[in-house]
Amino acid sequence: MNYSERKKKLEVYLDMDNVLADFDAGVGRKDYEWNPPEMFKRGFFLNLPVMAYAKVFYAYLERIPNVEVYIATKYTAHAPDCLTEKLLWVQEHFPKLADRMMVVCDKGHLNGDVLVDDDHERWQHCFRGTFMHFDHTNPKDSFIAIAHQIKCQAQLKEDLEKAEYLGISPHMSGEEK
Ligand SMILES: [Mg+2]
Repeated sequence: MNYSERKKKLEVYLDMDNVLADFDAGVGRKDYEWNPPEMFKRGFFLNLPVMAYAKVFYAYLERIPNVEVYIATKYTAHAPDCLTEKLLWVQEHFPKLADRMMVVCDKGHLNGDVLVDDDHERWQHCFRGTFMHFDHTNPKDSFIAIAHQIKCQAQLKEDLEKAEYLGISPHMSGEEK
């Protein structure tokens, strides 16, 4: 798939920590401080449990036409093992995404359409596309709501691409003669 074909699809980035991976469960205590010491221990990222319902959510996204799913994760420079551990984790739990990982220092650099992330304070205002907030304290309802939004956005993007291809004026619905 070349660049222009890829840009016709809805590019969706899924965060890892507290979206696909249950970071809280890995820490093992509530009300932890920012960057808890547990995450700097070797094996922390490798052994995180998969977030409840995350595999069903991903399988659903894969079936939506016109959607391309990627992972977008920030690395931690003070825990260099996290780079390898995150890749190994994805290979084990979401193998189809292993060669679709955007490992970044700042999610504001991403150029896709949708970012699904729990950290709205850091990324909502700098992500250039549509930010969808994932509430990791209520994964089931949050995944359902986000899946619905992504499906609608993908459908609308496809309709708009078709209208543009057919030369239909942006002021018409595409159903008018
Ligand atoms: Mg996160």
